[in-house]
Amino acid sequence: MSRSRIVIVGAGFAGYQAARTLSRRFRGAAEIVLVNPNDYFLYLPLLPEVSAGVLEPRRVSVSLAGTLRGVRLVLGEVDGVDLESRKITYVDPEGGSGELRYDRLVLTVGSVNKLLPIPGVAEHAHGFRGMPEALYLRDHMARQIEMAAATDDEAESDARCTFVVVGAGYTGTEVAAHGKLFTDALAKQHRRAGTGLRGDRVPRWMLLDIAPRVLPELDERLSKTAHRVLTGRGVEVRTGTSVKEATKDGVLLDDGDFIRTESLIWCVGVRPDPLVEDIGLPSEKGRLVVDEYLQVPDHPEVFACGDAAAVPDLTRPGEYTPMTGQHAVRQGKAVARNVAASYGYGQRRPYKHHDLGFTVDLGGLQAAANPLRIPLSGPVANAVMRAYHLAALPGNRVRVAADWLLDAVLPRQAVQLGLVRSWSVPLESASPETAHPVPVRSSKPSDPAEAGGTKKPTEE
Ligand SMILES: Cc1cc2nc3c(=O)[nH]c(=O)nc-3n(C[C@H](O)[C@H](O)[C@H](O)COP(=O)(O)OP(=O)(O)OC[C@H]3O[C@@H](n4cnc5c(N)ncnc54)[C@H](O)[C@@H]3O)c2cc1C
Repeated sequence: MSRSRIVIVGAGFAGYQAARTLSRRFRGAAEIVLVNPNDYFLYLPLLPEVSAGVLEPRRVSVSLAGTLRGVRLVLGEVDGVDLESRKITYVDPEGGSGELRYDRLVLTVGSVNKLLPIPGVAEHAHGFRGMPEALYLRDHMARQIEMAAATDDEAESDARCTFVVVGAGYTGTEVAAHGKLFTDALAKQHRRAGTGLRGDRVPRWMLLDIAPRVLPELDERLSKTAHRVLTGRGVEVRTGTSVKEATKDGVLLDDGDFIRTESLIWCVGVRPDPLVEDIGLPSEKGRLVVDEYLQVPDHPEVFACGDAAAVPDLTRPGEYTPMTGQHAVRQGKAVARNVAASYGYGQRRPYKHHDLGFTVDLGGLQAAANPLRIPLSGPVANAVMRAYHLAALPGNRVRVAADWLLDAVLPRQAVQLGLVRSWSVPLESASPETAHPVPVRSSKPSDPAEAGGTKKPTEE
């Protein structure tokens, strides 16, 4: 008789933990299959450090085959779930298609960039949800400083040295905090080398949010620390402000200000992976509805958790757990326990977790943290944050620590490799984890993005 097959779709925080816990529980008694477009687990919280050149990209990419024993990895992006015949279909990285039957299905497909219906944003902004976008941003920042140094046109140089981040949640705040330090360091290198960058030219960073404070979803004390560090560093924090329109020359804010820029970084949040809607099961704001056992109602063989699932928050009745790595990791372990229980191994248990606090990486030796609700800032918070990330990373710890050490004593490596193009990381993408191999066609035929670019043709 063939072994029972448990298929996990998505190897992020939740899927990785689910696969690891299941392989340890079953020890070969069931076949555990993990379907993911990439062969690595991406540790998203350290992605801003990749875009700022502190960490090399592979440090935050933990090999699935190298760390998940007893788990069969299938490279592919699932594009269909047939609940009747218990099969999934997927497209592999070379465009081939495949299908897999399952006895239990665990959906952990995470989330993608959230778009707002603002004219020009889809064409001119880039998101920050995956490795290709982080690598694109790193190159883009270096290129802007290099091209600002090369031009005699003051207005162009100003625009190239202006960076606008929209969304002051933890992603936008960390991107702006790290980006400012990175571009300041690049500008300094150029001035020292006498490459043409005007002596008083300091990169200008703006962080916008419609909310009244940065980190609106977190403890107010973390907001105050982040605000102080950002403004002290020269980042213009504009709360209660949003974007009215984006054009190829810059952004029009809702207060009437027009900011000339080549860099619009969109961090307004995330929405669940569109695969959830495609499956056709009940959803809540795009998240698949599950019960407190992480099981889909009326489909006892289907489980879901992480960003893609609306998991009842038993600590706040009537609400769903927030989309955080902290919850996704624990839900991954809980779902594995409950899947095992469905085979008679142990008892199923409802998911319940009280938030343990948050850490926000502000670059350099700065951070804001509130472990167990104790507010911390400065180097102490930074040490707590780094210790937390090292403990949470399922691999590459020595390499990450080595990069941090090297960054403390050596100047940043400021070169652009140019491997990720603007058109290969469109903001509106169902798979931010992979760079698009060909320009993505826009739904609007007259859209300039259709020509393959989201920015000016001079860009790449
Ligand atoms: C820059 C950044 C910083 C963050 N910092 C923090 C932090 O400090 N603390 C914190 O708690 N949270 C943080 N988060 C949020 C946290 O990363 C997410 O909540 C967490 O990743 C959600 O886990 P998940 O497993 O649901 O999804 P993900 O980790 O996103 O994993 C989803 C996986 O599914 C795969 N996938 C998607 N679609 C398909 C498909 N169709 N077929 C197959 N595979 C698919 C993806 O490739 C991916 O591997 C941060 C997020 C970002 C973007």
